[in-house]
Amino acid sequence: MSSIGYSDTPDWEGMREEAELELAAQDEVERPLREAGLPVPGHRRREIAEERLDVAALWRGLSDDEREAIGVLGLGILVSGGMASRAELTAPAATRAYTAHYYACLDALGTLPTPESAMAALRGPAWRIPADLGPVCLSCGCSDEDACPDGCGWEDERQIRCTVCANPRPLDDDNIPF
Ligand SMILES: [Zn+2]
Ligand SMILES: [Zn+2]
Repeated sequence: MSSIGYSDTPDWEGMREEAELELAAQDEVERPLREAGLPVPGHRRREIAEERLDVAALWRGLSDDEREAIGVLGLGILVSGGMASRAELTAPAATRAYTAHYYACLDALGTLPTPESAMAALRGPAWRIPADLGPVCLSCGCSDEDACPDGCGWEDERQIRCTVCANPRPLDDDNIPF
């Protein structure tokens, strides 16, 4: 509402159109999630689930073809990444080619479709975070390697809420809840 101006009558029609566009944009963002059964957190609904995702178990449940596709690219990253750094000082041409293969594998891995079994495990009302990340704050998503900007710790031994989220500062510009 910052640029309405000071005309005599408010532009009701324009405001309504703007609101409809906003709703349509939101629907466009949320529809694919809903259709896939993935979480669409609402205003009062938790974004991060307490239940975690066991990626090692997902890996063991993959089909041979899925494992082959992911494994070959993962191994390519390890081999070419490892050799690029070993060959760096003595074999620039080989290093160049290893580096190209390393990035090709990385790109290809990043564009593989998420396996259907992983999608199935992620369906639900809130997002399940891989367990091997370690403790995660269910409110803000911070974790041991990604603390809040001014530093934070865990509120208690359950390690599901950080000290920043447990002790919100008195209201200021950064802390208005919406
Ligand atoms: Zn937090
Ligand atoms: Zn935190």
